[in-house]
Amino acid sequence: MQVVVLGAGIIGVSTAWHLLQRGHEVTLVDRQADAALETSFGNAAQISVSYCEPWANREAPLKALKWLFDPEGPLKFRPQLDPAQWLWGMQFLGQCNDAAFERNVAQLVALGSYSHAALKDVVASTGLQYNRLTKGIAHYYTSQKSFDEAGSAAELMRRHGVNRKVVSKDELLRIEPALCGFADHIVGGTYTESDESGDCLAFTQKLAQLCRDKGMQSLMGHDILRIQSRGGEVDAVSVRDRATGQTRELKADAFVVAAGSYSTALLQQVGVRVPIYPGKGYSATLKLLKPEAASQVSLLDDQLKIAISRLGDQLRVAGTIELGGFDLSLDTPLARTRAQMLVKRIEQVFPGVADTRTPEEGGDPQFWCGLRPATPTNIPLIGRTKVGKLWVNAGHGTLGWTHGAGSGKAMAELISGEVPAMNFGFYGVAPRSAPIPAASAPAGLPSQA
Ligand SMILES: Cc1cc2nc3c(=O)[nH]c(=O)nc-3n(C[C@H](O)[C@H](O)[C@H](O)COP(=O)(O)OP(=O)(O)OC[C@H]3O[C@@H](n4cnc5c(N)ncnc54)[C@H](O)[C@@H]3O)c2cc1C
Repeated sequence: MQVVVLGAGIIGVSTAWHLLQRGHEVTLVDRQADAALETSFGNAAQISVSYCEPWANREAPLKALKWLFDPEGPLKFRPQLDPAQWLWGMQFLGQCNDAAFERNVAQLVALGSYSHAALKDVVASTGLQYNRLTKGIAHYYTSQKSFDEAGSAAELMRRHGVNRKVVSKDELLRIEPALCGFADHIVGGTYTESDESGDCLAFTQKLAQLCRDKGMQSLMGHDILRIQSRGGEVDAVSVRDRATGQTRELKADAFVVAAGSYSTALLQQVGVRVPIYPGKGYSATLKLLKPEAASQVSLLDDQLKIAISRLGDQLRVAGTIELGGFDLSLDTPLARTRAQMLVKRIEQVFPGVADTRTPEEGGDPQFWCGLRPATPTNIPLIGRTKVGKLWVNAGHGTLGWTHGAGSGKAMAELISGEVPAMNFGFYGVAPRSAPIPAASAPAGLPSQA
């Protein structure tokens, strides 16, 4: 089959790779000069099968209300005159209960486990290097109350086959000695050994190059203008070369929309409505001054809800979500406050380890922001739309890097007429008749080696 993949973030590139593996002819289109230059560029680098709880939970509405006026609040709703935002907000509220939370976690763990296995396969078969660290993810707590509640979250994960352990402060410091400078503030943690971290940008760009080596047609620097349908199926997709201004029409047997937050508008052109809304997040990448004293285990800071990952001789700190449209500015007062908060925290947790100086002080922090393609459930839409030949692989929200390899593989399988071996509600695809276990390991054991 000839397949056109629209969008070259982690999701589009991974889809392209797995389609090529199955013998399809692939064309990959993106407006940027290379793959992964939008949301897949500067994320927190975590492959986080076990830390996958969706933002929508019983306590989220009250917390969001509290954070409305706090510029450093982790989840910030910035009301816009945009019906899509309000509709998304209502759907999000509909997920803020225990039953929905548990249901969503089950799906996210199933996709996470499947994706982790797919990622390991890709790495084993290609030898890709992307500052991968297989040292797990640790979550540290500075409040006794939050730490006391960590046990039930860990227990929930273990029920889904992921071994998230509650660890004492001393155990945590043995797992990640770099936290010793902050030990006085830490009351305890949780740890999942099977999670990992690595640079999504490097992985995606290198995988895109391997796809080109395998014969994929790469149309970088091309705007996707319009999906045209005729007789209930896609007839063509028109794209424009940014360099020459020339427009052309792409014909194929299947088209996959993997355009992140912009998927909503593209799909709407042919009457497909999806609940994907941008959730802005920030990261800062800092040069290490003392690499020997820096963390290797990827970390979650419970108080600020931010993540910290080691990427070679740099430290990446990222987090916060802002629901306020497609604004990508880094120079507004709010954006500056949120970005600076990340750097400030690194200096508190790892004093003197990274270069946290501002540019005015001679430092060189690399600030970035991206738009998470967020769904109210946090569950991505992977599957078939009501329009013939048109597929979607988008809405990966906070976990697109974690779910990238598996989402690409599942999409390629569905297009090839195969049934992905996981318990997951694929978009527009009838559920399998016989359930299969989401994670093959029994509770209490890691689902992935
Ligand atoms: C601060 C932050 C931290 C994060 N941390 C993590 C983490 O630790 N672990 C994790 O698993 N996930 C994390 N994520 C989420 C993850 O980064 C995203 O879910 C993922 O990158 C989404 O990938 P994507 O391919 O769907 O979208 P993108 O990477 O945005 O790719 C979509 C592509 O489509 C192209 N495109 C869109 N519209 C058009 C058009 N009209 N014409 C041409 N091209 C178009 C864009 O150029 C883009 O390249 C984080 C996100 C943020 C913002």
